[in-house]
Amino acid sequence: MASHRPVRVRFAPSPTGMLHLGGARTALFNWAFARREGGTFLLRVEDTDTERNSEESLRSILDCLRWLGLDWDEGPEAGGDVGPYFQSERGEFYAQSIARGVEEGWLYRCFATAEDLEQQREHARAAKKNWRFDPTSRGLSQEDSDARAAAGDSFVLRFRVPDHEEIGIDDHIRGRVVFQSEEVEDWVAVRSDGNPTYNFVCALDDAAMSISHVIRGEEHLVNTPKQILVYRALGEPEPSYAHVPLILGQDGKKLSKRTGDTALGDYIAKGYLPQAMFNFLGLLGFSIDDATDVFTPEELIAAFDLKRINKSGAIFDQDRLHWICGEYLRSMSVRDLAQAVLPHLQQAGFLNCAMDSAKTAWLEQLVAAFQPRLTLLSELPAQAAAFFGEVPTPEGKAAKALAAEQAPVLLSAVADALEGANDWPPQDVMAIAKPIAEAQGVGLGKLMQPMRVALTGSLGGPELKDILALLGREQSLARLRSAVPKVS
Ligand code: GLU
Repeated sequence: MASHRPVRVRFAPSPTGMLHLGGARTALFNWAFARREGGTFLLRVEDTDTERNSEESLRSILDCLRWLGLDWDEGPEAGGDVGPYFQSERGEFYAQSIARGVEEGWLYRCFATAEDLEQQREHARAAKKNWRFDPTSRGLSQEDSDARAAAGDSFVLRFRVPDHEEIGIDDHIRGRVVFQSEEVEDWVAVRSDGNPTYNFVCALDDAAMSISHVIRGEEHLVNTPKQILVYRALGEPEPSYAHVPLILGQDGKKLSKRTGDTALGDYIAKGYLPQAMFNFLGLLGFSIDDATDVFTPEELIAAFDLKRINKSGAIFDQDRLHWICGEYLRSMSVRDLAQAVLPHLQQAGFLNCAMDSAKTAWLEQLVAAFQPRLTLLSELPAQAAAFFGEVPTPEGKAAKALAAEQAPVLLSAVADALEGANDWPPQDVMAIAKPIAEAQGVGLGKLMQPMRVALTGSLGGPELKDILALLGREQSLARLRSAVPKVS
């Protein structure tokens, strides 16, 4: 293990789509490890798939990382000494490495056609063996190989996997994992169009960028022996590895769109708080200790240890995420919460951009009233719709409460009593309501329920006193008076 080397880790996204939760967690673990070890966290953009790359995807990945609070020391927009940090700009370096590989013989031309290979694979299958290489190409002399290339025959460059070599890794999470070189085929390092493949450029770049620890998803474990062989061919020190287990859905299968949103951007759009998402991702396969569910980035860094990452898959638990989100929302100051929720209210068309101090004060009052029952920022517009426009038409139990026989009398009596109150909202709404309910011979609930529905269209929501304060005297009285005829 190369633990004496300066710690340099990387996150290497391919900008071909959205940043998924698995990728975000890989980035987070790399970041936390670098920060814990006082090392360097770099971002390398693996944009060699020109057909699927997009500028939009790259921008969204960078935005997502920033949203989570993950900053990188080297990479796009940050610069650094071992760039370029876009693989699409490293062609010259790859060309030199390819020339070196051909010259030193660890890369060789393979002229086999797809049909040749299929036939060979078929034979290997029949003999219950692994297909490893095309014997004709592997054994070709340099002159013959040069002659066929000069004649314009199409070829790929394969990596010459040595025989009888043990390829072992001391994985920080999984312990010792050993591959025999016989299990690894002579894989394609450079395609017939001259483009190098992922395994080749990834290892070249990790070596050139002095990556000390490769922390990535366990789906890449199959690639690791191939990449280690590149290090050995180059004579470069091998990094140490940590293959992070998959994120699984509640059904125990790989997390997929079927079981919930998988793209981080979807969570951002739905109003999950970045601190909560950071915390939640940090708990996917890792724990500070057996008791701590809520922690700050600093606490995660202080406790971060690759050895504490679980070997088994991490279950994505939506309820836990919501619980964590609620915890963060409730711990926020009203001012911060009002700011965080503002874009969601604007998006719903409830508020415009111009917020004067009176509006801001009212918004903070609204946010304070809803804070105890909020889990997501994006829930607020629906929950608080009654405070931004007409009373939503009551449904179900709420409609029933308003349609109760005594409701009209109770509501008009309470409206009269409230109208006579000196202050707004009245100090003690209960003291006003109680005698009215008693006079009608009903329990207090029979008055409170239609009152809530008349004011907001629903039975839930903030304290009655807060509702009256937010609506103001005029609006509250108008709603109490108009509710009954509206539904009858
Ligand atoms: N570009 C690869 C991916 O997105 C990186 C894999 C690695 O970390 O080596 O899966």
